[in-house]
Amino acid sequence: MVDLDTRLGPVVGKASADKLSKTFGMETVGDLLTHYPRRYVDLEQIDSFADLEVGQYVTFVAQVVDVKNIPFGPGGRKTRTQVRITDGRQYLNATFFNQRWIAKRTEVGSRQLFAGVVGEYRGQPQLTHPVIRELGDDNASFQRGIIPVYPATASISSWELERTIDTVLAVLDPLPDPLPGEFAEVRGWPDSTTALHWIHQPRGKGQWYTAQQRLRFDEAFALQTVFARRRHAFDTETAISRGWKAGGLADRFIDRLGFELTDGQKSVVADISQDLARPHPMHRLLQGEVGSGKTVVSLIAMLQVVDAGAQAALLAPTEVLATQHFHSITEQLGDLAKGGMLDGVEGATRVRLLTGAMGAKARKETLLDVISGEAGIVIGTHALLQEGVDFAELGLLVVDEQHRFGVEQRAVLVDRAEVTPHVLVMTATPIPRTVAMTVFGDLETSTLRELPRGRQPIQTTVISLAEHPSWLDRAWQRIREEVEKGRQAYVVTTRIGDGETASSADPAAAQPAALVDVFAALSEGPLAGLRLAMLHGRMPADEKDAQMAAFAAGETDVLVATTVIEVGVDVPNATVMVVLDADRFGLSQLHQLRGRIGRGEHAGLCLLVTDTAGDTLARERLDAVASTTDGFRIAQFDIDLRREGDVLGARQSGGRSSLKLLSVVRHERVIAEARDLAVRVVEQDPELSGLPALRRIVDELEASQQADYLERT
Ligand code: ADP
Ligand code: MG
Repeated sequence: MVDLDTRLGPVVGKASADKLSKTFGMETVGDLLTHYPRRYVDLEQIDSFADLEVGQYVTFVAQVVDVKNIPFGPGGRKTRTQVRITDGRQYLNATFFNQRWIAKRTEVGSRQLFAGVVGEYRGQPQLTHPVIRELGDDNASFQRGIIPVYPATASISSWELERTIDTVLAVLDPLPDPLPGEFAEVRGWPDSTTALHWIHQPRGKGQWYTAQQRLRFDEAFALQTVFARRRHAFDTETAISRGWKAGGLADRFIDRLGFELTDGQKSVVADISQDLARPHPMHRLLQGEVGSGKTVVSLIAMLQVVDAGAQAALLAPTEVLATQHFHSITEQLGDLAKGGMLDGVEGATRVRLLTGAMGAKARKETLLDVISGEAGIVIGTHALLQEGVDFAELGLLVVDEQHRFGVEQRAVLVDRAEVTPHVLVMTATPIPRTVAMTVFGDLETSTLRELPRGRQPIQTTVISLAEHPSWLDRAWQRIREEVEKGRQAYVVTTRIGDGETASSADPAAAQPAALVDVFAALSEGPLAGLRLAMLHGRMPADEKDAQMAAFAAGETDVLVATTVIEVGVDVPNATVMVVLDADRFGLSQLHQLRGRIGRGEHAGLCLLVTDTAGDTLARERLDAVASTTDGFRIAQFDIDLRREGDVLGARQSGGRSSLKLLSVVRHERVIAEARDLAVRVVEQDPELSGLPALRRIVDELEASQQADYLERT
C-alpha cells in the first residue's frame, strides 16, 4: 500500500530518498507529490531566449545547430565543447569543459531540454555545463507533449524529479479524498488521486489547469477547516459572562466623552459587548483605518469587564505606546480611575502601568494592585507576561497593534488565568480581506472603516529631490509656518545613525539620512530656534517617556524620530510630517506613520521625501500612498507588490509551507469559498469523521509549524 504517508525510501530507493531529503526536506510520498511543477513546457511552443537574465535558472527546449570540440590549454590537451542551440529565432551557446562525450549526445538537429544557470561570456549570455536531456521516445512526458518543469537545484534536476515522481505515481494507491464528493462533482473536478496524476502528468493544458484549481482549493479548504474547527472549539470553551452594567463605569465614560462615537464604533461596541456577555470566550479581531478610534472602543470593553467585577489587561507592543495609553486612558477616565482615592467616584477603578523599565519599587506597588484586583485596568508591554504577574481575575485581554505580537505570548496570559479570559485583538493597519481570512481566520472580525467626523484631511505630497532639490527647504519652511500657528511636527528617518554601521551592500549607494545627523543639521539650520526633540528606540525608557510626554504636552515643537512613533502615537496637535527616505518604508507603514497627523481638528500635511532618481517603481509606490487615504486600498496595493512569503511572514517562506498553489494575494474567491464550505462541514461533523483524509491534513497542519505560525502572526 503506497499512500501519502509512505516513506520515500522503499518506493524510490535509498539513494534518491536521501537526496530528496537532503535537498528539499522531503520524507514522504506526500512531500514529493506536493512538489508541484513550477510550469510546463508545451512542446508545441518552444520557449524563446528573448528575455534571458544572467543568474537565472532556466529550462527550455532547443535544437542543436552546431557542435564543436575545441582544444585548448598546454598542448591542446583540454577540450571545450561548444554546443550552439536555437529556439527557432535566437541562438545561444552551451559550453562544457573536458566532456568530449557531450558531443555524441548532442547531435546536430536533435531537440533537447536544457537547464542551467544563465552566465555571460564576452558580453553574450551562455549556459555553462547545463543539464541536458534528449527528447526521445522513452520519455513519457515527451510523448504526452507537455513536460513539467519542477523547482529544481543543481543537485536534482527537473527531469530527475519528473522520473522519480513518475515512479511514485505508478505505484500510488487510490487516496481517500479530503473534499466532500458532491462538491468536487458539481465543479467537474477530478478526485484527488486523479488530480495528482493530472498536475504531474497532464495530457493537455486543460488537465493541469483543472488539477491546479482543485488542489489549490484543497489547500485553502484545509486551512479554513483548521480555523473553522478552532472557532467551533471556542464555542465549547467556557468563560465567565461579563454583561453590561447599567450606570456603570462604561456608561458613565461614554456619557462624558467629549465626542459622539461614530456609527461604526457604536456597532462594534455593541458586538463586543454581546460577546463579553456570553459564557464563551470572545476571540475577536478589531481592525480599522488608522485613526478610526479603536482605542476608545477597547476602553469601553475594558470598563464593561471592570463593571462586571473582573480585570482587563491592555498589551502594547512598545513602551512608548504603553506609556501613552496609560497617560491618555488615565486622563480620559478622570475620577473614574481614582479608585481608593479621596476624589474618586463611586465604583471607580485603578489603572496601572507595567513596563520592563520600571524601578523595583514602582513595580512592586503595581503588582500588588494587580494581584489584589485593585487595578481594574492594567496596561503594559511584554513585562505583563513575566512570571509573577498574577491577576486576581483577568476577564479581558486586549492586544493592541497585533502585528508585533504573537499568540504564544497572548497564550501566556490566557493560560495563566484560571478562567479563560475574553480576547480582543487590534491590528495597527487595515489588512485586506484575504489576509484577514488567512492569517486571522480563527477570529471574528470587526472593521472600523470611517473616521470620526470633523477630521481634517491629510494632504500627502511626494518630494523628489532628484527633480526638485530645492523643495526640501520648502518642507522645513512649512514646518516653521505650522509651528508659528501653534502646531507641531514630526520628522521621520529610517535609521538612528549613531555608531551604526552601514548596512547597505552597495557602498556606492547613498546612505539614508541618519537621525542624529538630521537632528543636528535641523537644529542649527532650517529649524534653528524651534524646540526640537529626538526620539528613537535605543534611548533609555525614561528618556523616551520624557520626550514623548513633552511633545504631547506641547513643550516641544518638532519631534525628530525613527519609526518608534509609527504605531498608535496620538498627539492631535501635530499637523505636519516630513518622512525622509520615504522609499525605504513599506506602503502600509507609511500610511500608519502618516496617521500620526491629522488626528485633531487641523488639516494635516505629509511630505514624503525621496531622492531615488529614475526608480519608477519606488515612485509609483509613493504616488500610491499620496493618492489615497484609504488604508485598505494601500494595503492591497502593498501586498500586490510584495511576494507571498512577505505577506504571510518570514516563517511561511522558509521551511516547507502548506501553501503551494494558493496565493493570499490572488485567490480571494477561492479562500472565501473554502471558508464557507469549511464552516458547513465543521458544523455537521466537527470531528471530520466522514472525511478522514481531511482530518489527517488538518491534524498535520495543527501540529506543524504552519499552524503555529498562523497563530503567531
Ligand atoms: P486608532 O484606531 O488609530 O488606534 P485612536 O484610537 O488612537 O485611533 O483614535 C484617534 C483619535 O481620535 C484619538 O485622539 C481619539 O480620542 C479620537 N477619537 C476616537 N473616536 C472619536 C470620535 N468618535 N470622535 C472624535 N474623536 C474620536
Ligand atoms: Mg491605536
